[in-house]
Amino acid sequence: MSDQNPVFIPGPTNIPDALRKACDMPTLDHRSARFAEILHPALEGVKKVLKTETGQVVIFPATGTGGWEAAISNTLSPGDRVLASNFGMFSQKWIDMCTRHGLDVQAIDRPWGEGLPVAEFEAALRADTGHAIKAVLATHNETATGVVSDIAALRRAMDAAGHPALLLVDGVSSIGSMDFRMDDWGVDVALTGSQKGFMLPVGLAIVGLSPKALAAMETARLPRFFFDFRDMLAGYPGAGYPYTPPVGLLNGLATSCAMLLDEGLDNVFARHRHIAEGVRQAVRAWGLPICAASPDLYSDSVTAIVLPETVDGNAMVAHAASRYGTAFGAGLGKVAGKVFRIGHLGMLSEAQALCGIAVAEMALADYDVDITPGAGVAAAQAHYRANG
Ligand SMILES: *Cc1c(COP(=O)(O)O)cnc(C)c1O
Repeated sequence: MSDQNPVFIPGPTNIPDALRKACDMPTLDHRSARFAEILHPALEGVKKVLKTETGQVVIFPATGTGGWEAAISNTLSPGDRVLASNFGMFSQKWIDMCTRHGLDVQAIDRPWGEGLPVAEFEAALRADTGHAIKAVLATHNETATGVVSDIAALRRAMDAAGHPALLLVDGVSSIGSMDFRMDDWGVDVALTGSQKGFMLPVGLAIVGLSPKALAAMETARLPRFFFDFRDMLAGYPGAGYPYTPPVGLLNGLATSCAMLLDEGLDNVFARHRHIAEGVRQAVRAWGLPICAASPDLYSDSVTAIVLPETVDGNAMVAHAASRYGTAFGAGLGKVAGKVFRIGHLGMLSEAQALCGIAVAEMALADYDVDITPGAGVAAAQAHYRANG
């Protein structure tokens, strides 16, 4: 069995050799001037990837989950109301975190497979004439269901309602893979992790802050220490860090940003759409439903595929791993066992995507799913050949 097969999980993603090498560094004194040569390009690169000119970037040794905690604990106070929606495992977990932090969550839940309920959010904001809602939480790409939501539309709805709440966006599985515009969309906190669109090992929580979020940081009363934006920002001009920074990962991040920006973000997004569309064509050829409720919600970073009720998706994913040495995403939470996911973000070529589709066909056939092996591969090949 090979440990060199690409993975088809929606994070951690495949690591390009150039990034693996960039992370592999000898020990460097993080209080020396050399650290500035790593930190500053990483911060500037992330700003460009987030498309922010007015914002600041902070980077913690953590994961996307740490980014959630940094976002809420730096901008909110105990008892503050937040408006959110549970429409998948990740949006649900962020809500759980808010509740555990003593926030008052107003949740407008949706069936898993649907997107952010923008119209209902607008109605809730209009009804909140006293402005009790301090923040709106949005999971840009719900990785559990393969659903991308329209953050620009959410911003328009917030503006139409004339509501001053902060907009906190989880872009963990969208940033660096799908269009994301922090300034244009009026995002106050944007957060992601290193192991998805940035194609790095896990270990960094990457957070963008608008001027409005920076102002909220000064008055927020939720306790924080490790994740305090103020301690991070105070040191950055001199490349100081409030504790020991993960230097190799930061070097990887600077290199990753350079790679993405060199390719051109529009090209990166088009490449993701191209690979994703091949996967979707394959799923169509299998005759299996996509979990995302409508094509406008289809994610270009992950596709969740609904299995026949007779099939245990978790067992099938485990079988693909043990028999074929290939990792697919299992279903999470409410859709555990019912869907399996093909992650297609980060470094993935047409050839690699075809490999994943072919292996998925073998695993599906092994579980007696009524597909024609080769049909999905042929559909994806046709898409790739016609649209290169
Ligand atoms: C992966 C993911 C997370 C969690 O990130 P970790 O790095 O595993 O903590 C949060 N939100 C979304 C949308 C994700 O895809």
